[in-house]
Amino acid sequence: MANLYPMRLRPLLQDYLWGGTRLATLLGKSVPEGETRAESWEAVDHRDGQSVVENGPLAGKELGELAEQFPEELYGAGRSFERFPLLLKYLDANKTLSVQVHPNDAQGATLTPPDLGKTEAWLVVAAEPGSKIYAGLKEGVGKDQLAASLEAGTCDECLHAFEPEPGDCVFIPAGTVHALGSGLVIAEIQQASNTTFRLFDWNRVDKDGKARPLHIDESLSVTDFDRGPVSAQTPEKLSSGWERLVECEKFVFDRFNFGKAKEETAIEYEVGFRILTVIEGEVTVRFKGGEETLSLGQTLLVPAVTEGVTAESISDQATLLAMRLP
Ligand SMILES: [Zn+2]
Repeated sequence: MANLYPMRLRPLLQDYLWGGTRLATLLGKSVPEGETRAESWEAVDHRDGQSVVENGPLAGKELGELAEQFPEELYGAGRSFERFPLLLKYLDANKTLSVQVHPNDAQGATLTPPDLGKTEAWLVVAAEPGSKIYAGLKEGVGKDQLAASLEAGTCDECLHAFEPEPGDCVFIPAGTVHALGSGLVIAEIQQASNTTFRLFDWNRVDKDGKARPLHIDESLSVTDFDRGPVSAQTPEKLSSGWERLVECEKFVFDRFNFGKAKEETAIEYEVGFRILTVIEGEVTVRFKGGEETLSLGQTLLVPAVTEGVTAESISDQATLLAMRLP
């Protein structure tokens, strides 16, 4: 008898100054009336946040505790990690975020305290007309030019920007300069890291005239100046009907679009866990021993040990995202 089973995890809502109300209105997250939230951490094992199981006999247990106790059931035979290596979150960018860059694993290991690097990918869930994504530097921008623009407060002139559509996926490996523009709601899969270097805050100050701290030297030292402009990914159609959005050394990110109610798909299941989340409609996930229904914005962590996992749409239109380790 396995100890682990598909787990619903309690969302951890984060209140940053750029957040809005759409995590509640669009994704059904629980936010007190009149308040805003920026992020909902859906699956996380980090010193800055711990997912807690909501369903079944393990209710109340932390993800980190379970990962330590049942590594093979979670990750598959012979695999273990110091902690759960991925983090899924939803973000509501009601205001434009600061321009940021994240270190890679080697750079993260030298920090105090050490952290993983952060490679991430975004899936645009909703976009107000005219919302922008800033991703990568314009062609030919090097360290000197970026440093001079930061000095002059004109960093935006160095950034590649585009207006994304809902459904666009943007891949941001560590070292890629990026910012989410106001009006976007996204799902983000990333390495379980919380290290961000802020290059530029759009010359904003708070009501007391104070700017948020910048990390210019750290940013310049981890920026990948060969990365260049970044646009939306071109999804790859898999024979299973799924689309592969990103496959990199840190994670694999897939999507299934259901075109009608009661459409069924298998969830391809090699070794390893799956994080499943629904960004449109409603989906029932079935597996040996049970089922869970996921509404819009809800997440299920399916451990490696669970067998026979399939998903079926309840609504006419539904979209399921699946994230796993490579
Ligand atoms: Zn980021």
